[in-house]
Amino acid sequence: MARINENFLKLKAGYLFPEIARRVNAFTEGNPEAAKRLIRCGIGDVTEPLPEACRQAMHEAIDELGNAATFKGYGPEQGYAFLREAIVENQFAGLGIAADEVFISDGSKCDTGNILDIFGKGNVIAITDPVYPVYVDTNVMIGNTGDADETGAYAGLVYLPCTPENGFVPAIPDRKVDLVYLCYPNNPTGATATRAQLEAWVAYARANQAIILYDAAYEAFIQDPELPRSIFEIEGARDCAMEFRSFSKNGGFTGVRCAYIVIPKTLKGYTADGQEQAIHPLWSRRHSTKFNGASYPVQKGAAAVFSEAGKAQVAALIEGYMGNAKLLREACAAAGLPVFGGVNAPYVWVGCPAGLTSWDMFDKMLNEANVVITPGSGFGAAGEGYFRISAFNTRANVEEVCRRIGATFG
Ligand SMILES: *Cc1c(COP(=O)(O)O)cnc(C)c1O
Repeated sequence: MARINENFLKLKAGYLFPEIARRVNAFTEGNPEAAKRLIRCGIGDVTEPLPEACRQAMHEAIDELGNAATFKGYGPEQGYAFLREAIVENQFAGLGIAADEVFISDGSKCDTGNILDIFGKGNVIAITDPVYPVYVDTNVMIGNTGDADETGAYAGLVYLPCTPENGFVPAIPDRKVDLVYLCYPNNPTGATATRAQLEAWVAYARANQAIILYDAAYEAFIQDPELPRSIFEIEGARDCAMEFRSFSKNGGFTGVRCAYIVIPKTLKGYTADGQEQAIHPLWSRRHSTKFNGASYPVQKGAAAVFSEAGKAQVAALIEGYMGNAKLLREACAAAGLPVFGGVNAPYVWVGCPAGLTSWDMFDKMLNEANVVITPGSGFGAAGEGYFRISAFNTRANVEEVCRRIGATFG
C-alpha cells in the first residue's frame, strides 16, 4: 500500500490562482463578447519582452553549446562563477558577501519552498498576513502546521498581521519564533520596510537564535534611496538571515527561470541538543544533491542583466512598470478608494469600497469592468477587504484599466 504525504490533504483546495482562473473561465464562457475586452492585472507576471542584452547573451551561449570546442555539459550545481561574481559585485558590493555564498537556482518560488528541507521539525514559524502563499503552503506540505480553520489560517503558524496602522510591516512578535519570512518590497501589499524596522527584526532574530528568510524579489523596484535593498545592509544580519533574489521581476525572467539565495557562512542553526551548525554547508549539500544547476544559456542571460546595456534596459523596464503603478494609484485614489503600495513596488494594494469583501470586489471588477484583480483575502485573513492590482502590464492596458476604474467607481 503506497502511503501518501497526508499533509497535502490539509491544503485549502482553492490555492488562490486556480480559483481566480476558475472564475475567469466561467465568466469567459458565459460572456464571450465581454471576455474579448478582459484585462488581466491579477497574477504577478511581467509582460514586457526580455532585455536585448539578455537575449543576445543567451543566443551566444547557445552557439557555444553548438560547438565542440566550447560545449558545456553539467555545470557547477551552485552556479557558474561568472554569475555568482557578477551578483556579488553588482548587488552586494560592500556588504561582505562572497561569491561562494550565492547559490544559483531556477527560481525563488522553488528556493523558498525547498529551503525547508534543511530545517528540523518543531520550529515555530512566523509569516506575515497577508503573504505570498508559497511560504504557507510549503510549510503545510512538509508537516510544519496543523489543519486550516474556516478563515484559512493553519494551526501552528504564527501570523503577523500587516495593516495600514503598522504600515504593513508587522510588529516584532511578543513570543519566541524560530523562522520568520519577510518580503520587502512586499508582494502583495507593495509596502517597504525601513532600515530601522529591519534593524529591529535583526535584533529580535539574534536575541532569539531565529533565522530571517528575506525575500527581496522586488528589490529593483525601490525608488527611495533611503530604503534598504538587502537585509545584509543591516549590521548583524549575516548571523541571522538569508536572502532570496530572483531575475524574474527585474530582468523579466519569469519564463526563463533564474534566481539565487545568499547564505552567509556565518549563519547558524542548532541541533536538538543545542549544538551550533552552519547553514551554508547544509544547503550546499541539499542543492547539489537535488539540483543539477540552472542552464548555462540562462545563467549567461542573467549575467547580462549586469552589463552596461543590460542595466539600462532593466532600468527602462522598471521605469515603465513604476509609471503604470503611479497611474493605477491615481485612478484608485480618484475613485475614492484607499490606496497603498505602488511607490517602491509594482503592486498597488487597494481597500475595497465599504461593504464589499475581497471576492465581491473581484467579481465586481470582473463582471463590470472586465478587469482581473487579485482578492486580498487570497493572501491571508488580514488581506480581507483589500485587492491587489499588478502594474505588470502594457501602458495601453493600464490606461484602459484606469478609465474603467473611473467608470465603475467614479
Ligand atoms: C515573483 C516572486 C518571486 C520570484 O519567483 P520566481 O520563482 O523566481 O519567479 C519570489 N517571491 C515573491 C514574493 C514573488 O512575488
